[in-house]
Amino acid sequence: MSDDELRPPPIRAANWRRGIEAPAEQDIVSCVSCGLCLPHCPTYRLTGRESASPRGRIAAMRAVQEGQATIDDTFRTMMDECLACRACETACPSGVPFGRMIEAARAQIEPTRPIATRGLRAIGLKHVLSRPWAVYAAGAGLGIAQALRLDRLGPASTRTVAPRVSLTQLARPLPREMGSGPTAALLCGCVMDVAFRDVQRDTLRAVAGSGYRAVRPRSGGCCGALAMHYGYPEAARQMARNRIAEFADAEVIIVNAAGCSNHMKTWGHLLKDDPKWGPRAAEISRRVRDLLEIDLATRSRELGPIACHDACHHVNGQALGPDLRRVIRSVGGQPVEIPDGERCCGAAGLYSVLQPELSAQLRRQKAVAIATTKASTVAVANPGCAIQIAAGLREIASPIRVVHPAQLIR
Ligand code: SF4
Ligand code: SF4
Repeated sequence: MSDDELRPPPIRAANWRRGIEAPAEQDIVSCVSCGLCLPHCPTYRLTGRESASPRGRIAAMRAVQEGQATIDDTFRTMMDECLACRACETACPSGVPFGRMIEAARAQIEPTRPIATRGLRAIGLKHVLSRPWAVYAAGAGLGIAQALRLDRLGPASTRTVAPRVSLTQLARPLPREMGSGPTAALLCGCVMDVAFRDVQRDTLRAVAGSGYRAVRPRSGGCCGALAMHYGYPEAARQMARNRIAEFADAEVIIVNAAGCSNHMKTWGHLLKDDPKWGPRAAEISRRVRDLLEIDLATRSRELGPIACHDACHHVNGQALGPDLRRVIRSVGGQPVEIPDGERCCGAAGLYSVLQPELSAQLRRQKAVAIATTKASTVAVANPGCAIQIAAGLREIASPIRVVHPAQLIR
């Protein structure tokens, strides 16, 4: 046999776009295509399609990596249909880091979208979210539209899952500082500060009552999770730098939204190639605590059965399921499990707006499952899930109340 015959066939160049982050080859090849993740994947369970499964999505990434396929409409649909819930990551015995792979794949598909779609997404994800005043103005605009019932002019699917903005709450300033002790800075965030101001207030009170000096940074703003999930990693890095600067003096950074706490714990990795901000990012990430992780001072009352909704970014990202139940018990509630509780509710960041049909099916399944618990209250510690579950319960005419755990603390 000649040397030429022994030489392996030439490897074709990867078809990822240059200059944009892409799924890492070592992550792609760590999938052994065993399929053990499939029964845990909500989109596979809904559709039965391999193309809507983690294994199918990774196979598509591998095809692009090996130069066998390009980033076309089919690839884009496969990545767009993913909830990024990371249930597959938790289930995977090979430790495939699907969360960071799907984020990188989304960065790759973003430039392939029609220009008008891309422009709209860029305005929202890069420009509005990075400016707290713009988030506030957008929230006020939504609140006015809802008060005048102008939101009825938009598509019903979007109206159903739009956050409800109270203009009265929006006009009422939140405290800058409460309590004394080690400084605990609250992430102001985007949706939380606009549509869940009562939860922000209750969180500050709960943290201050637990022996901290609870503060809200003056500048405020988004952690960058949505930009990261939807294809704008550079915008996410800039938002992370802004938040890191404002949290410099805090001993603890408190986050009451599952998606945000999960994302902020990855800031060190996100900025690892930035010589100036990387070390600071790693240090601040270590100080991030989800509200459920704090040893909160609570008073026990007779609250009765409370259904426990596990946000994907609590259970799959941070293993905080037991903490939610601990907090519920500490306030005098009896935690009640929701059947098939690990299945995503379909909120998944902007999924309910961008993939309304799949999202509506998941929303209905979740609402029906919650209704079977017969609890009068469901505890939900993530704004997207809270909006989605409240909408789902309304759709099935269920009177079950959606509350954030912070609202139960007295
Ligand atoms: S992601 Fe993990 S569980 Fe799923 S097919 Fe690949 S190796 Fe198997
Ligand atoms: S992140 Fe969720 S929806 Fe996406 S492939 Fe994994 S389990 Fe399925």
